[in-house]
Amino acid sequence: MRVFDHPEFDHHQQIVFGCDEASGLRAIIAVHDTRRGPALGGLRIYPYADEADALTDVLRLSRGMTYKSALADLPLGGGKAVIIADPRRDKTPALLRAMGRLVESLGGRYITAEDSGSGEEDMRLIRQETRHVSGLGRGGDSGDPSPFTAHGVFCALKSAVRHRFGRDELKDLRVAIQGVGHVGAHLARELHAAGAKLVLADVDRDSLGMLSEELEAQNVAPEAIFDAEVDVFAPCAMGAVLTREVADRLRATVVCGAANNQLATPDVAGRLHDRGILYAPDYVANAGGVIEVEAQRHDRYDREAVMRHVERISTTIDEIFTRARAEERTPSEVADRLARERLG
Ligand code: NAD
Repeated sequence: MRVFDHPEFDHHQQIVFGCDEASGLRAIIAVHDTRRGPALGGLRIYPYADEADALTDVLRLSRGMTYKSALADLPLGGGKAVIIADPRRDKTPALLRAMGRLVESLGGRYITAEDSGSGEEDMRLIRQETRHVSGLGRGGDSGDPSPFTAHGVFCALKSAVRHRFGRDELKDLRVAIQGVGHVGAHLARELHAAGAKLVLADVDRDSLGMLSEELEAQNVAPEAIFDAEVDVFAPCAMGAVLTREVADRLRATVVCGAANNQLATPDVAGRLHDRGILYAPDYVANAGGVIEVEAQRHDRYDREAVMRHVERISTTIDEIFTRARAEERTPSEVADRLARERLG
């Protein structure tokens, strides 16, 4: 397995492979960059086909966290951890505590948090071995980062709509949301409250049905969401959803959602741009969660201040779209450059 010449390797500062025979732990922690602060990033537990897949994921996700935190103006670097395991079958207290010891061995250079396959309960077990954990919530005030992520996406979406259509109001704006899980459902409710008309899709038909009824939304089959006659497409399910084929197929002229790593390949940004589709770079739009997780690390937690910070995502997105237009570049290129400037 190649590491230093891996296509996703980007001068990562440290990559740690951890193994614990007793609990069956097989994990990788990637610390991408700590110039702005400790490398914070979630712990993904997923049954990767092999360790090459796990390495690809952790390298890509940890770099994304560096850029996300830099553009969200957080005193954090970027890191990520993955455990090669099925979260429904293999997640045991012994496995999580072994992971806690691995995190502890980095002495605070890496701070872990929830991600897909891991939740607040798991973080409590990890906390028994290390204090370098966030995402444990602060009583009734915080905890689940998804409402904050959704609010950030909502702010980014409003900014994109202003740039693309020259309007501030969302009334009667047509929005298609792919995936109405934690983030997608919160986003749908905020958009509904602002007067938008929704088209929803999810592979989980039960939760989709209930939400559609509540919000008087149209629901469509998962594959049909790309063809919906809408103004905005909001990917809130999985990554790599924006393939060349999808870029050619979309009817929406704004793409703004919560999913990480939406572009299947970097060239899709150019294809969207050529078709006049304004794409809000995912790691800028979906930074609300990490802003909340960062705030939880401090003694004083002020929910209003966290919300104001999340709302500044609009300002960053505005700057990216304005520069992209002036420089005739894609918003993705501009976002990457802006992040590198902040790291510089
Ligand atoms: P989630 O698992 O709660 O929701 C995802 C939803 O997508 C589920 O309801 C699932 O059934 C649905 N789905 C899966 N495949 C689908 C398909 N092909 N078509 C339609 N629906 C499909 O996850 P979440 O926490 O809401 O996160 C959503 C996305 O946002 C993920 O990509 C995640 O990495 C990203 N994200 C989440 C946060 C957060 O705060 N939770 C923060 C940043 C980024």
